[in-house]
Amino acid sequence: MKISIIGTGYVGLVTGVCLADKGNSVICVDIDKNKINMINKGKIPIYELNLDRLLKKVLSKKTFFATTNLEKSIYNSDITIISVGTPDNNGKIDLSYIKEVSKQIGLILKNKSNYHIVAVKSTVLPMTTELVVKPILEKYSTKKVGEFGLCMNPEFLREGSAIEDAMNPDRIIIGQYDNKSGREFVKIYSKFNCPKIFTNLRTAELIKYVTNSLLATLISYSNEIARISEGIGGIDIVDVWKGLHLDSRLSPFKSKFTGKGNARIKPGILSYIWSGCGYGGSCFPKDTKALVKLAYDIGVKPEILNSVINVNKTQPEELVLYLKNIIGNLKNKKIAVLGLAFKPDTNDTRESPAIAIIKSLLKSGAIVTCHDPVVHKKDIKMILKYPKITFASSIEEAIIKADAAIVVTAWEEYRKLSPEYFKQKMKTPIVIDGRRIYSKEEFLKENVCYKGIGYR
Ligand code: NAD
Repeated sequence: MKISIIGTGYVGLVTGVCLADKGNSVICVDIDKNKINMINKGKIPIYELNLDRLLKKVLSKKTFFATTNLEKSIYNSDITIISVGTPDNNGKIDLSYIKEVSKQIGLILKNKSNYHIVAVKSTVLPMTTELVVKPILEKYSTKKVGEFGLCMNPEFLREGSAIEDAMNPDRIIIGQYDNKSGREFVKIYSKFNCPKIFTNLRTAELIKYVTNSLLATLISYSNEIARISEGIGGIDIVDVWKGLHLDSRLSPFKSKFTGKGNARIKPGILSYIWSGCGYGGSCFPKDTKALVKLAYDIGVKPEILNSVINVNKTQPEELVLYLKNIIGNLKNKKIAVLGLAFKPDTNDTRESPAIAIIKSLLKSGAIVTCHDPVVHKKDIKMILKYPKITFASSIEEAIIKADAAIVVTAWEEYRKLSPEYFKQKMKTPIVIDGRRIYSKEEFLKENVCYKGIGYR
C-alpha cells in the first residue's frame, strides 16, 4: 500500500520504516527540515536499537523516503497516518498539532478525487477522532466521512525495543468509522501475523489509555508497597517482589504448555512490578493525566489514577531524602547522577525522574555532575535551563571525588559497576540505588554506604 505518515518522531519514523520493510511504499512527512535531511541521509535523530540499519535498508530499496511536502505525499499515497505529538498541557492533552495537521490534510483532500483513508496513530483520548479530527477533516475537505475513510490505530511500541515491537506486534487494533475504512486500512498490515481487532473509534482510543495506565498503576503500586515495607522495617522489597513474581498466575510453569520441567515463563509485565524512582517518558505521565482529566469531564472521580499520579510525583524525591538522611546538608556536596534517560536503551529524557532529582539536588545547593551513555549534552534541553550542571562524558568522570552517587537509569553499564569501583573513585562511597540494580549485601560487605528503595 502507499502510505504517508505525518509526524516523523519516535512513532512516525519507526512505523514508517517497519511498514516499508514489510512491503509498503512509505513517505514520512515532518515540518522539521533538519530531521528530514538527516533521515534521507540514513541518519536517525533518536537513539533506537536497529533503527539505523532498517532505515538504510528501506532507503536503498527506495520503499521509503522523508519529505516536508505534505501535499505531494498525500497525492502520492492512499492512506495517511497521523503521528504528531499529543503532549501534556497542564494536565490536559494538547491537541493543537492534531488539529493543525487535520486541517492541512482536509484542505488537500478537497482536491483529491481518489478514495483516501486518514488514520490517527497518535495517542488521543476517546472521542477525539470522532469529535475533533472528523469535523475538521470534513470542514476543510468539504467532503463527508464515507467519501474518505477514517480509522484510529493506536501504537504500542516501547522506546528501547521499538523496532522489535513494531515488527512483531502482539495485536493490531483498528478503530474504524465504517467497515470500508477498516477493510482497506488493514491491508497495510497484510504481512503482520498477529490478531487484528476491529473496534469503533473510541474503543481503539481507550485501549491505548488503559494499557498505559495499567502499567503506570503497577509501578506506583510497587512504589507504594516499597514505602510500606520501609515503614515496617526489617523487610527488603526485592525479596517481596521475588516472592510475588513466583505466583504461577504471574509466571506460569512452562510445563503447562510443554508438559515437562519446572522452568517459568517470565512475562514482561513483571518488570512493572518492581520498585524504583518512578515512571517517566513521553507516554505514561501525560496519558494518565489526560485520562484523569477526561474522567472528571464526564463526571467520574478517578480515585485510583489520582493516586497513581500522586505516588509517582513524589517518588524521585525519595532518593534525595535518602541522601539527606545520610549526608545531612547537601550544600556544595558533589553529587553524581547516573542516568538521564527515563529508561535504558533510549535517549528520551521527557519526564525522566532524573529531571526531578536534579532539580531537587540543585535546590539543596548540591553540585551536580550527570552522566548518561546515550543522552548527550546537546540533546538535553534541561542542560540549557540549568547551566550549573556539569555533564560528564564517562562514568569515571561523573563519580570521581564525588560525595555521593545516585543511580537513576538501569543502564547495563551501571549494573556492571562493582562496589570496589565506587570506593576507588569516590571521595565518600555513598551510593543511592534508584532502581535496585545492585546486590545490597555485596555493597554493604564492601563498606559502601548503600541505600536502595524499599528497606530500612
Ligand atoms: P515526537 O514528539 O517524537 O514526534 C512528533 C513529530 O511530529 C515531530 O517530529 C514534529 O516535528 C512533528 N510534527 C508536528 N506537527 C507537524 C505537522 N503539522 N506536520 C508534520 N509533522 C509535524 O512524538 P512521538 O513520541 O513520536 O509521539 C507521537 C504520538 O504517538 C503521541 O501521541 C504519543 O503519545 C504516541 N505514542 C508515542 C510512543 C513513544 O514511545 N514515543 C508510543 C506509542 C504512542
